[in-house]
Amino acid sequence: MNVVTTQHQQDRSLPRPQTLDEFINQRHTVEALRAAISKANQRGIMIDHVLLTGPPGLGKTTLAEAIARELGLPIVSYLGSQFTSPAQVSAVLRYGQGKVIFIDEVHAVSYKALEVLYRTLEDGMVPNLDGRLEKCGAFILIAATTDPQRLPNPFRQRFSLSFHLDYYSEASLATIVNQSAPIMGLTVASESIETIARIARGVPRLANHFLKRSADFAVDNAITPPVVQKFLTTYGIDSSYGLDRLDTGLLTALKRLGGTASIDVLASTIGENPKVISIDREPYLLRLGLVSRSSRGRILTPKGEQVIYQLEKEAS
Ligand code: ADP
Repeated sequence: MNVVTTQHQQDRSLPRPQTLDEFINQRHTVEALRAAISKANQRGIMIDHVLLTGPPGLGKTTLAEAIARELGLPIVSYLGSQFTSPAQVSAVLRYGQGKVIFIDEVHAVSYKALEVLYRTLEDGMVPNLDGRLEKCGAFILIAATTDPQRLPNPFRQRFSLSFHLDYYSEASLATIVNQSAPIMGLTVASESIETIARIARGVPRLANHFLKRSADFAVDNAITPPVVQKFLTTYGIDSSYGLDRLDTGLLTALKRLGGTASIDVLASTIGENPKVISIDREPYLLRLGLVSRSSRGRILTPKGEQVIYQLEKEAS
């Protein structure tokens, strides 16, 4: 089976921390991993398998690659959705000896394929081509998912090294932008760093994307406040919270609907898929306290009303 080209390959042009030391934030996770790696190295054994959970763009792939590098082992990457049959998992595991096998979006592995994976993690046995069980060579599985609830409990509990990556603070995102800028050949004014860190929704990938897109408008690779402003205006992103046109459309629709609406009504009002709203949009609006949830649906909070008022005033 092909080693993947994950969505992260699209990020290849983004600076990616190479080692655990360069990995910004997530201090406890990094410390725990470093301790496990150093103990395993001392004892000449493999570290345990690793489960990384958390929203997209927070560094799961980056961390997996840094772990492999610290261990001095090659990494092979797959997407969970590539494993539709037990035979596919078996084939990868049979050739996994001495490697880090990274499976991103592991919740998308088919149920039957996941059973094989689970059994191999338990007893180190893998079916051969005739279906007979054989001992397989030692490997390290790093499984990542944005949706851990979709993993069967026994599988999830199999990982003693299990870490949840959380959204980054503005200060951490500012450090990331500072670290990324010279790698991208950019100089960035401190005010611009602050703005990008503020609007990046707690997500390093977005911070790097915003830096890159701002650079499209830069002269002499200098990211000044007017350059960032030009980027924000062009892309319709507000400079206080990083709300884009879809977010503001959603808040405005909620206001017009009297401040309370079900997700389906809201979605059809703005012509969007309800899943896009609930998975992609709503979490950030909830975190900002602009909307809240109730049994009657979504509610525009007083803070949400104030933000809409402000945005409408700025637009007029
Ligand atoms: P995920 O696998 O969780 O979707 P990635 O590991 O692909 O996220 O991270 C997306 C991008 O964000 C990376 O290419 C890297 O540029 C940046 N990034 C993520 N986490 C960090 C971090 N802790 N420090 C610095 N940059 C980071």
